[in-house]
Amino acid sequence: MKHTKVKDLLNSSKANYEVNAKGWVRTFRNNQFIALNDGSTINNIQCVVDFENTPEETLKRITTGAAVSVIGELVESKGAGQKYEIQVSKLEILGDSDAEKFPMQPKKHSLEFLRENAHLRVRTNAFGAIMRVRSVLAHAVHTYFQEKGFVYVNTPIITGSDAEGAGEMFKVTALPFDNTPRTEDGKVNYKEDFFGKETNLTVSGQLEGETFAMALGQIYTFGPTFRAENSNTSRHLAEFWMIEPEVAFNDLNDNMDLAEDFIQYVIKYTMEKCQDDLKFLEGRLLEEEKSKPQAERSEMALLEKLNFVLENNFKRVSYTEAIDILRDSTPNKKKKFNYIINEWGADLQSEHERYLVEKHFKCPVILFDYPANIKAFYMRLNEDGKTVRAMDILFPGIGEIVGGSQREERYDVLVEKMKALGIDEEELWWYLDTRRFGSAVHSGFGLGFERLVLFVTGMSNIRDVIPFPRTPQNAEF
Ligand code: ATP
Ligand code: MN
Repeated sequence: MKHTKVKDLLNSSKANYEVNAKGWVRTFRNNQFIALNDGSTINNIQCVVDFENTPEETLKRITTGAAVSVIGELVESKGAGQKYEIQVSKLEILGDSDAEKFPMQPKKHSLEFLRENAHLRVRTNAFGAIMRVRSVLAHAVHTYFQEKGFVYVNTPIITGSDAEGAGEMFKVTALPFDNTPRTEDGKVNYKEDFFGKETNLTVSGQLEGETFAMALGQIYTFGPTFRAENSNTSRHLAEFWMIEPEVAFNDLNDNMDLAEDFIQYVIKYTMEKCQDDLKFLEGRLLEEEKSKPQAERSEMALLEKLNFVLENNFKRVSYTEAIDILRDSTPNKKKKFNYIINEWGADLQSEHERYLVEKHFKCPVILFDYPANIKAFYMRLNEDGKTVRAMDILFPGIGEIVGGSQREERYDVLVEKMKALGIDEEELWWYLDTRRFGSAVHSGFGLGFERLVLFVTGMSNIRDVIPFPRTPQNAEF
């Protein structure tokens, strides 16, 4: 007999037939009621064991975490909370789980403890829900772009260019640490390395993505990205997944429209497909916030917050307007910010971004036209000569979720900018070719997938929305 997923059993259109279910025991009550979960849904199916006719030996082995297979009749449940249950006629223990030792006890565990048990935390309701939501969100990303005719591009993970400037990089090398080959002046001789040159793990697929956009029109990447930044925050990972669309002939406004439409689409898609999981996560968040002071609690419950993003346009504000707002803000005047905003040109810290989004506008914000000297070399210089067509999208509770720009398509302007910043033209010869041969206006952005998952699940630490987080001093599993 083939087993049926718990999700399908709970959604069955009929009752009173024999079924087989396989899964892991969440709880076993009164020597009679197994709450069985197989990961197909957050909901358990109740399996009623005929304890009088089941050997004591077997009953003892029905412990939290054990893998079991049950055969029995699917019947309408008399108990509250579930439509169906299984009247077990045959029970087989597939894999025992020592109740004393199994770390995932049916009680509340701290998120820190669960992180240390990332291989087992996915057996909890919260992490099962988060990981299913993450999977559906990833599918939504592909669905959105594929339906719009974007080409999915796999940009390299090992890159030979270190000029992107998006963040600190991890070196990739096959050279030995002892007896490292050196040049005459004592530097590491990368000519003898595997690739014959210095290589790194990518911090962004953008530059390669641009070359594809200048041939295929609309492309997107969705892949792993690495940053060796030693920032131990709840928003940064050393290994994360980034989505980077790039579109030929799009200007900055088109880019903002795309980003907003895309984010709203994937959230809506996920809300439709993950109702049970999101409802659970909403409850989890409410529970978590009970322990916080009133002022730190969210003003909206999770689903309300997601709906709010779907129903409201993102507020578009220039950097210059944002600086004026921040300069006049109470925390700035009362010197409550760690970094006081005095003048135009200041780089915005996350405290400023969050003030704008959470206190001032109270909705997602797109900041655009940043000062050229706090942004990357490839961004399109505006006519004023001092700002670039950059945009960052800021989300409540998250801060920056998207960073993007219209790209500098003018060869001369781009080269001049690279010279000024000391970026090696020869190294980026292939990138400059896009501006030499058939250059055109184009734009794109990078969205950190985990920051999106954070927002949708209502979690607050990025380590809790990726299966096995990589952070400074931590690469377990
Ligand atoms: P931040 O200012 O938050 O450090 P950034 O400006 O360095 O981000 P970008 O280079 O613009 O980030 O990267 C594009 C997007 O990738 C960001 O908007 C963010 O969503 C995501 N991102 C960047 N760095 C990380 C990281 N270390 N971990 C997870 N996501 C990240
Ligand atoms: Mn950025």
